[in-house]
Amino acid sequence: MYAPDRYAAAAMSLTVVGSIAFDAVKTPFGERERMLGGAAVHFALAASFFADVRAVGPVGDDFGEEEYAVLHAKGVNTDDVEHVPGGKTFFWAGEYGWDLNDRVTLDTQLGVFADFEPKLSEASRASDFLFLANIQPDLQREVHAQCSNARFVAMDSMNFWIESARESLIETIRGVDALMLNDAELRQLTEKPNLVQAARELRAWGPRVIVAKQGEYGSALFTEDGFFALPAYPLETVIDPTGAGDSFAGGLVGYLAAHPDEELSNDLLRRAMAYGTAIASYNVEEFGTERVQRLTGDEVVGRVADLRRATAFADAPVPLR
Ligand code: AMP
Repeated sequence: MYAPDRYAAAAMSLTVVGSIAFDAVKTPFGERERMLGGAAVHFALAASFFADVRAVGPVGDDFGEEEYAVLHAKGVNTDDVEHVPGGKTFFWAGEYGWDLNDRVTLDTQLGVFADFEPKLSEASRASDFLFLANIQPDLQREVHAQCSNARFVAMDSMNFWIESARESLIETIRGVDALMLNDAELRQLTEKPNLVQAARELRAWGPRVIVAKQGEYGSALFTEDGFFALPAYPLETVIDPTGAGDSFAGGLVGYLAAHPDEELSNDLLRRAMAYGTAIASYNVEEFGTERVQRLTGDEVVGRVADLRRATAFADAPVPLR
């Protein structure tokens, strides 16, 4: 049974910087011309099940009460969401074909992100956990520098930045504890043909934890102690995969923040991946943030239990020839 009170005493603060956006998304099952999105938004909503989340990023005049209300309903602190007068909120448009792992970006308008200079409040700077969601890697580093006391820092990125800001991205990666990236992007970044090689190379750059996101196939964990993989939750209906990676990350890092006294062991990371996987599975069942807005803790716990059953097996050795 999900028991938020159990975590209350230990509630850690978790700051996330990343895109706060309007998205236009088309999938074979429908489309939305303009809906709340952005990596920081998807991450924050997922992480809000576990920790006190503070979202950092700029928005324009088009970002209104309705959008703030979605974040506030989940207790996300928006004090460091900077409203830029006269500005336009980050806008992204994408389209998916029948292979929902494969999407095409139709438009990216940085808007207020183009001139964003993060200035974090004292409260955000003091966060114990920090997530540098997908955004320009220089900005990720500036935020990291301001949160110098964070005990755990994780980050995401995407092909857009690997291609346009590679050196800066590598510099950002060197400073974090955990890197979470799509498997294809891990290979692209390291120029290694194989995920195990790519993860080994990346761990040599700095992060001790590498998480490969593999879309509908799940995710894989690489640390010094070894390897772990989880399938995605088996769903019959996927409507919109946008934000799956960020809600997975929000669940994962949120779970770590809810266990601040535990050592960062593979056991803890595996459990955190299960929570991330469960929340991401709800995210993709409807457009944008629609499903996660109504998601309950009991529903999350239910899918974590299903995942545990689906991935366990007993060994009955046979003599092998
Ligand atoms: P995901 O599906 O988890 O990879 O993330 C989708 C979210 O990332 C969408 O809500 C977009 O607003 C956001 N996004 C797309 N492209 C970018 C970009 N270049 N920089 C930052 N955020 C982006």
